[in-house]
Amino acid sequence: MTAQTDSPELRATVATACRVLAANGLVEGILGHVSARVADDELVVRCRGEDERGLRRTHPGEVWRVSLDGAAVDVPDGFTAPSELPIHTELMRARPDVGAVVHAHPPAALLAGLAGLEPRPVFGAYNIPAMRLAFDGVPVFPRPVLITRRELAAEMVDAMAGADVCLLRGHGITVAAPTVESAVVAAINLNVLLEVTVQLARLGARPPAVAARDLAELPDLGSAFNDRMTWQALVAELGEA
Ligand SMILES: [Zn+2]
Repeated sequence: MTAQTDSPELRATVATACRVLAANGLVEGILGHVSARVADDELVVRCRGEDERGLRRTHPGEVWRVSLDGAAVDVPDGFTAPSELPIHTELMRARPDVGAVVHAHPPAALLAGLAGLEPRPVFGAYNIPAMRLAFDGVPVFPRPVLITRRELAAEMVDAMAGADVCLLRGHGITVAAPTVESAVVAAINLNVLLEVTVQLARLGARPPAVAARDLAELPDLGSAFNDRMTWQALVAELGEA
C-alpha cells in the first residue's frame, strides 16, 4: 500500500500542487483538488474554508485529513472536504498503488471529451510521457455528473480499468499516482496531450501515429527521478511568476 507520512511538508506539497495546477491552466477559480494518502484508510486533501481564495492561492492551512469514508479526522470547523471527495477515496480504496490523486477541469479535456476526440500517439520527443499516455489509451468516463457519491466514483474507477488517467466527459480529468509530485506531472502531461489533440482537430489534421521503429528509439522517461526534476522545475516557475 502506497502512503506517505502525514507531515507539514506533505500538506505543503499538496498546497503547492494546487498552485502548480492553477499556474498551468488545469484548474481555475475554486474547482479542482489534490489529495495524498497518509494511511490505509486516510488521506489529506485540499479543503475549502470561509476565507477561500481559489486554487491559485492555496496554502497548507487548507489541507486537512479525512478518512476514506469521508469522516473528518482533523478538519476544523469552517472547512469542508470537496464534494467530489469520492473520486479520491474510491481510487485509493480500490487500488493500493494509489498514493495521490489529482482532479481538475482543464478546458482541453472538456473540448476533447465533448468532441469525441481520441488522443493518439502522433508526436514523439516533444513530450515522451504525454505520447505514452496516448499510446496506452486514455479511458473515458462518459457521465458528466458531479462525482459526489461512492457508487459514481466506483463507476469511474471501473472505466479506468487500472489506468492512471481518466478523461471525464463533460467534466474534467482524474489522475492517480504513487506521489503528489508524480500525479501533478502526469496531469500536466495529460493536459499537453489533450491540448495537442484539440488543436490538431481544429487544424483538420490527422497525422499518422509514431512508427514502431521510432517508438523503439524513445526512452521511457516515466521514472520517479524524471518526475522529481519536472516537479522541481514547475515549483521554481511558480516562484518566479
Ligand atoms: Zn469535478
